[in-house]
Amino acid sequence: VRITVLAGGVGGARFLQGVRAFAAGLAGSEITAIVNTGDDVTMHGLRICPDLDSVMYTLAGAVDTERGWGREGETWRIMDELVSYGAEPTWFALGDLDIATHLVRTQMLAAGYPLSDVTAALCQRWQTGVRLLPMTDERCETHVVVAEDGGRRAIHFQEWWVRHRAGLPALDFVQIGLDSARPAAGVLEAIAAADLVLIAPSNPVVSINTILQVPGIAGALRSGPAPVIGLSPIIGGAPVRGMADACLPVLGVETSAAGVAGLYGARSAGGVLDGWLVHTGDTVQLPGLPVLARDLLMTSPEATAAMVADAARLAGR
Ligand code: GDP
Ligand code: CA
Repeated sequence: VRITVLAGGVGGARFLQGVRAFAAGLAGSEITAIVNTGDDVTMHGLRICPDLDSVMYTLAGAVDTERGWGREGETWRIMDELVSYGAEPTWFALGDLDIATHLVRTQMLAAGYPLSDVTAALCQRWQTGVRLLPMTDERCETHVVVAEDGGRRAIHFQEWWVRHRAGLPALDFVQIGLDSARPAAGVLEAIAAADLVLIAPSNPVVSINTILQVPGIAGALRSGPAPVIGLSPIIGGAPVRGMADACLPVLGVETSAAGVAGLYGARSAGGVLDGWLVHTGDTVQLPGLPVLARDLLMTSPEATAAMVADAARLAGR
């Protein structure tokens, strides 16, 4: 059984723990995660891939479970030194252990390896049980258009999200480099070879939609043989964790399970979904889209594995 998952960072990582637990009961299963890289950024000369790292550390059991990102047992001595030098940005925390990951990645990229190879090399150490692929090997970074002094200005997604806590009113999201971006090595193959494609309950705008915007990916899902089942990241009109509610209105999408379903669209109507899981009590009516309501709180890998089993049932697999 080949399962391919579209995923963002922290929500995607939790979901993948459940997919891995589900697949543990199946002989010869393979899981591939296509991970958002729109959050990627270069700071202090280091190339940082927050979503890939959240997934890698979580699946490795090395994540700080309280923060939800970064390494367990992290220390911040290098960051303290950078702050003492007044080296900007000081609002983006980089832990000492985490910096080692960014150093290895940055060196390999500088030596000419594509991000997909670099990611595979980093994962060698961690034995994640899931093949991690960046959505693209090219730089394709999300920027947020904000109003300023009567005009408008685009800032990197991380500056908007981390520095301003998504508090600056956003006018638009743009992906710099999108036009020339191609799916990373292995991405189209993982979609074409899948028995089941799952869309994680990740941020629908800056994780999932970012992946879907990479030229070729949505088309591959639509023309691929595998059923595509999504899980709603919005429960009862609110994101369970985080600030996803700051993103959907920017696209004119209602913060609801129905709004997100409409954003992804039913395959039968030109979108990508063949089925949609919503939390108990949420209702979605979209022509041509089978919907299943169940508990969607990812409280443990086992609870999440049960969601995956229901998604597989909805897909008829
Ligand atoms: P990020 O890249 O670290 O922001 O993480 P993701 O994009 O992968 O996921 C963040 C989203 O996951 C949040 O916006 C929530 O809507 C969603 N989420 C988090 N926990 C849960 C959960 O337990 N159940 C569901 N259904 N969604 C969740
Ligand atoms: Ca992210």
